[in-house]
Amino acid sequence: MEFLDVPTVLQVSALFNLMAALAWLLLAQLFRMAPRASRLMAAMHLVRIASQGCGDCMAGWPALAQRAVPEFGLLACAVLLLLALRRMLRSRRRPHDVAWLGGLGALAIAAGLASGDGLAPQLAGTASATLLAALAVREVGRGAGARLSPVAAALATLPFAALAGLGLAHAAELLLVPGWSGRVPGGAPPSPARAVLWFVITASITLSLIALMIWRLVTRIQHLTYRDPLTGALNRRAFEQALAEAQAQLQRGHGFAVAMIDIDHFKRINDEHGHPAGDAALRHCLRIWQAGLREVDCLGRIGGEEFCALLPLADPADLNSAAAVVERLRASLAAQPLQWKDMELQLTASFGVALPATDDPAGDVALARADAELYRAKAEGRNRVCVAQPLLSEAAPT
Ligand code: GH3
Ligand code: MG
Ligand code: MG
Repeated sequence: MEFLDVPTVLQVSALFNLMAALAWLLLAQLFRMAPRASRLMAAMHLVRIASQGCGDCMAGWPALAQRAVPEFGLLACAVLLLLALRRMLRSRRRPHDVAWLGGLGALAIAAGLASGDGLAPQLAGTASATLLAALAVREVGRGAGARLSPVAAALATLPFAALAGLGLAHAAELLLVPGWSGRVPGGAPPSPARAVLWFVITASITLSLIALMIWRLVTRIQHLTYRDPLTGALNRRAFEQALAEAQAQLQRGHGFAVAMIDIDHFKRINDEHGHPAGDAALRHCLRIWQAGLREVDCLGRIGGEEFCALLPLADPADLNSAAAVVERLRASLAAQPLQWKDMELQLTASFGVALPATDDPAGDVALARADAELYRAKAEGRNRVCVAQPLLSEAAPT
């Protein structure tokens, strides 16, 4: 790396950090995209400029400041980065662990500087930044790993893992290479290889955060496209799509049942307690039904107070187990009234269950048969499950 001029690398890095800070601020202020995470990232890049070292420009500073700024700066960068990551991934975790680690790290650096020892502040700064970077690895692994493909999750995690690895290597150098901390005091310009490595890691962390932001945007758009905004259930279009996919799977022996659901006397809730109570009742029903369904089942809102469930079946002819699941949905709603202000509102719903027919690409036959059973349930007194008799082809599978 002899051909590389360290001050030039540091200047390029400073310019990159400045541009990145401006870009994040622009995203936060103008486009309101992940505004808190973006502001934290902007602050991280600005602190990075101040803390990365700049060749000779610190030469005139007091010795203590030359040693303190890089260590405190690196720690602040790690704290800001972890907080930004959590915001970006919509993590609900409280920032207590970050505050503790950051606070302890700062205290350790201050104590090391006060002792006049060359090694202690560098070791304290490196150790706490490394721990924070390891937490960032875990955060991305958990937050994105569950929802991204393994390759995409690994790519998003890699820069943070590299940062933690670099921290570990530096801590080992400080401890194991005799006289290292004396030869390379905090604040001294890095070697060319190290300057380039820092730059590459900073740039790839920025890219990773941008990729996470795009992913967040895409999932938001998908949510708006496929979900009902009031209840979070699939909207009619998304449910019809899921039903058509299930019908296609029917040819391959993967069966399912559909259940049409209609809340009983729902209009009364609106009339007697107001529209907000009606909205709360819809959310309440959905919460209860979602809790009683498996992850493979899907629930769509296909009209005002009408829902439809799609229940994959291990045995395509097993109408009884589908009916049992739906009966549990009915019973759990009847057993859990909605708490509205200081009242308990009793809610019930009627259900119609049917198996699909083959040669029915959109699943219209299954929906119509389940709907007919729903009407029967209403006519027979509501708060009940009615099940369609199997079609002849279902009753006698070949
Ligand atoms: P039944 O037992 O026969 O199903 O009677 P019902 O009162 O539930 O049925 P009806 O079709 O008469 O009334 C449905 C009501 O649902 C009418 C409409 O105002 C209300 N509704 C539809 N969408 C919403 C919504 O998003 N929020 C609220 N609060 N009410 C809604
Ligand atoms: Mg209705
Ligand atoms: Mg109704």
